[in-house]
Amino acid sequence: MNKSKFDLVIIGGGPAGYVSAIKASQLGLKTACVDGQLSINNKPVLGGTCLNVGCIPSKSLLDSSHHYEFLSKNANSHGISGKFTIDIGKMQKRKDNVVEQLTTGIAGLFKKNNVSWYQGKGKLDSDKSVCVTGHDGSEQIIEAENILIAVGSLPIELPNISVDNQYIFDSSGAIHFSEAPKKLCVIGAGVIGLEIGSVWRRLGSEVTILEAMPDFLSLADDEIANETKKIMTKQGLSIKLNSKVKSAKLIRNQVSLTFEEGDKEITSKFDKVIVAVGRKPNTNEICNSEIGLKLDKQGFIIVDENFKALGDNIYAAGDCVRGAMLAHKASEEGIKIVEKIATGIKSSSHNTNIPWIIYTWPEIAWVGKTEKECTANGEKVKSGKFPFLASGRSHAMGETDGFVKVITDYETDMIKGVHIVGPNASELISEAVVAMEFGASAEDLARIIHGHPTLSESVHEAALAAYQKPIHF
Ligand code: NAD
Repeated sequence: MNKSKFDLVIIGGGPAGYVSAIKASQLGLKTACVDGQLSINNKPVLGGTCLNVGCIPSKSLLDSSHHYEFLSKNANSHGISGKFTIDIGKMQKRKDNVVEQLTTGIAGLFKKNNVSWYQGKGKLDSDKSVCVTGHDGSEQIIEAENILIAVGSLPIELPNISVDNQYIFDSSGAIHFSEAPKKLCVIGAGVIGLEIGSVWRRLGSEVTILEAMPDFLSLADDEIANETKKIMTKQGLSIKLNSKVKSAKLIRNQVSLTFEEGDKEITSKFDKVIVAVGRKPNTNEICNSEIGLKLDKQGFIIVDENFKALGDNIYAAGDCVRGAMLAHKASEEGIKIVEKIATGIKSSSHNTNIPWIIYTWPEIAWVGKTEKECTANGEKVKSGKFPFLASGRSHAMGETDGFVKVITDYETDMIKGVHIVGPNASELISEAVVAMEFGASAEDLARIIHGHPTLSESVHEAALAAYQKPIHF
């Protein structure tokens, strides 16, 4: 058996793993990264779920379908007309090229930074070694002073509903459709459900989203969630709350879904169904039980505040540990870990204010607490809002849906949360993250010059509204 020795071996090459691997090498650690992901052409690839079947391909489809919808529905008001068609095969090829470019880019970065890439499945072999099972079934042991487990997450399956990738798909399968299904059902009105449901609605599917919970987007601020539901319903998404899907049956090339709506049991037929009911940590096969790694009831690896999972040298980060399942949160956790390993000093990187983004159109983004969370904590708050309808830039763009809401402490004016539904919310939220990281008050934000005419003026005006009064509304 071939033995190699590293300062750090990382299991998983997604946003937690590959980013940590590059950073560790930059900091002088001899680093290896083990990853078992294969591309759609069955080639070993880096980037994990995010780059291969998650964030990047879905954003590529979201952009293509957004352009198509703009041209076919909204461009007329700009004086642009014509008959616009969509070639879904070409759109998919573009998406695959985007993924390939980025995953190849990471392989290039590994080479440049001297990260050794082991292609295959990694498993903890002992507290100082990892066993890699290659795609051809061969095994090799690599020795490690430190190990970082960054194995990510997998889609949750529903009992009685098996994903066959022909009629019933998980989120990974749902990005490869070669045509827009006539009647599409998405189970789960979460982040994935809304994003992928929007893609296929824009491309012509009649989309029904079935959501078990009575509240829509329960993680978001109530006002943002209500506005989003209104906008999406107007766009043509049929969102049914309180609808818990129980089972699926294939009947003559259609899926017959049974769901409970309150105390009624309803059956509906769809051409395709996407299951988007959350993700679970991918920790089933990470080690044998004698290693002593501790998992919680849901399978998340239990870590301390320094992300230590076992002993002094085994760490875990990303979707396989507690907290939000977000790529940017995963990467920052990995950076913290490798900075600590390389320098012995606890990393000072800031990651208390994690932005959430949903890439529908309009986009939804927030950071910090919702008004409900503040009130439930007994915090006395006030808020200011500014609608995009009152923004000059929004009018010029023809994108006037949504608003910005800034929540502040009633006494101190410190910003507690910023919530946006509107055009380019994904980019606008960064200003709020920076402001909150620097402990800004609404007045601070309101007294900073914002370019005119920009969408960011709406953040400025919402801060003004929270602290005094907006000018343009
Ligand atoms: P989610 O937790 O956001 O939403 C799943 C929804 O499914 C929930 O609202 C739940 O109530 C509902 N549900 C569960 N069982 C059901 C049933 N039987 N019938 C009907 N509804 C049911 O999960 P997701 O959308 O699958 O996303 C998974 C993870 O991936 C999330 O943690 C998310 O943060 C992450 N993600 C993030 C982004 C982004 O940042 N833009 C994009 C995609 C995924």
